[in-house]
Amino acid sequence: MSSMGFGGRIALAFLTSFSCVVAAKQGAIDLALENAHISPILYFPSATAELSSRQALHVQLGPLVKDLATTDGKSLVPELDKAWQTFAALQRHVAYLRTQSLEDTQDQTVKSAYDAVATDESVLRTAIDNRVRQVPQDQVSSLGAYALLAARLHADATHASNADLQVYRSSVTKPHERAIADAYNALISAVTSSRGTAASDLATRRAAIARRDQAYDAAAPVAATLLATLVDLENRDAVAQGYANAADRKYESLGLSSDVLNQTLAAVGAESSAYRNYQQIIAEHAARKLGVSPILSAEQDLAAVKPPPIPLSAGRQLILDALRPLGQDYGDRFAALLDPANGRLDLTGGSHRARTGTSIAVYDAPVALYYSGYDGSLRSLSVIAHEGGHAVHRELMNASGIPIYQRTGPNYLFEGFALLNELLVLDRATHIANTPAEREYALERLLSTISFELFASAEETGFERSLYLTASGHAPLDRAQIDKIYQDSITPYEYWPMSDVGTSRQWMQKSLLFEDPLYLVNYLYAAFVAVALLDKAESDPDFARKYAALLRRGFDAEPQTLLQAMGIRLDDPSLAKATSRFFQARTAELQSLYVSEAHAPFSAR
Ligand SMILES: [Zn+2]
Repeated sequence: MSSMGFGGRIALAFLTSFSCVVAAKQGAIDLALENAHISPILYFPSATAELSSRQALHVQLGPLVKDLATTDGKSLVPELDKAWQTFAALQRHVAYLRTQSLEDTQDQTVKSAYDAVATDESVLRTAIDNRVRQVPQDQVSSLGAYALLAARLHADATHASNADLQVYRSSVTKPHERAIADAYNALISAVTSSRGTAASDLATRRAAIARRDQAYDAAAPVAATLLATLVDLENRDAVAQGYANAADRKYESLGLSSDVLNQTLAAVGAESSAYRNYQQIIAEHAARKLGVSPILSAEQDLAAVKPPPIPLSAGRQLILDALRPLGQDYGDRFAALLDPANGRLDLTGGSHRARTGTSIAVYDAPVALYYSGYDGSLRSLSVIAHEGGHAVHRELMNASGIPIYQRTGPNYLFEGFALLNELLVLDRATHIANTPAEREYALERLLSTISFELFASAEETGFERSLYLTASGHAPLDRAQIDKIYQDSITPYEYWPMSDVGTSRQWMQKSLLFEDPLYLVNYLYAAFVAVALLDKAESDPDFARKYAALLRRGFDAEPQTLLQAMGIRLDDPSLAKATSRFFQARTAELQSLYVSEAHAPFSAR
């Protein structure tokens, strides 16, 4: 007995000291992660070396562009090799200066150096494209690695802009569009005030929400004029280039036809009851927790669970575990990226630092990850998984040595791959949750991400497309027309009444409408790509190998061909159904957690 008791105490003492060691080690890892910095010598041995290399490249650029323009067919390929090597060298400076400017947003010298290199890069890219465009069709195959570039440029040339249109675009259309985006940002920052809108006292909160809505309402006519003018400018530019309207032009540039888009919107629309059901469950839960009925859509987030922050070391482990279906090599690369010792990671917050998450793109050097804003939430872990995903994708394309022009492709594929990482992390968080509260929190995040990326994107894409189609060939739209188009676009999806979510404020808040016309469609297809990949990751035993091959090959074919290699077709009607089934199953899990919480005699939260 005594010896057992003694042994037990020893064991306990050992365990205590062991867990202290573990805790101390975890603490040290957390500290190292929190203070992780991108190494100042990751891209150049010193600031002096960077500057002299940058100046030398700038001097070489003029002669290089001239040689490229005048080179004959025989020496074109070696000349293009040289040009792309220079492009990669310039990008290394972009990476260096970008990192510096993220770490200190106030540094004007770095900013102007960055702008200068970016300009050199675009001058070189234009020179490359202009020369390759001149290669006659029957000689394209002699271009070897550049044949695909030539084929793409020739395909674009069917809608080539003439010189007059180019001049008009750069002197009238583009400056107008920039002015519209600036005016929009000034307008919105003047009306945005969330003061009191999250107050726990109902009367205070509702008064604040009403004040905010009135401010938006007063600004709506101006916002409508800005948006209508932008739509008109874009449509006119597209018509001058031989397209029916700007929406058709954009979708064609993404390799998507109007037919595919119609099918997608119809397929998502057919699953809208799953979205309404989800919205209703969230709304009723929030109404019960806040003790108010009916609840406003603006209040639903106030009831969300806020669990204790996840330490970075645990968060990193969660990400690496979640990404296991993507294969050993992918996981090893991600782990190396998230190892502070490698100097490719920056998670430090602080003053003068850019509040953003991004990957540092470079072609002939290590990629890096920057994120300031880690707060221990699942949302911030998603950002690391997402941006780190962009970094590892770039690293894999670099490792395969494909031509640099093939390392860039449609945004919806890039974003789809990154979104897959987010979904894997959130899905894993739902499975490893230790308590119902943790599981509820993870499910809320997962469902909110899918519903936002898929259903809200379908609403937005439908709305933006209708704007451009309705305005095409007509006088610019007014506020009443925009409101009506907005309501018509979202009504088929929504649980919330239009008096709540169908107001001008809702479309006014969508800044991309004003800043990057017709970009929103990318989110819709990114969601489709991500959920289709998630489905394959679970169902295809050979998924990791195929996915690695997909990432490594970059964009050596049209998006549809790339996806076909994974067995994915964007126009496959069952894609939306499969997503919807997954979404409904996880919604049902959340609902049952809500139900048992409501029936618990005393709620801890
Ligand atoms: Zn992204």
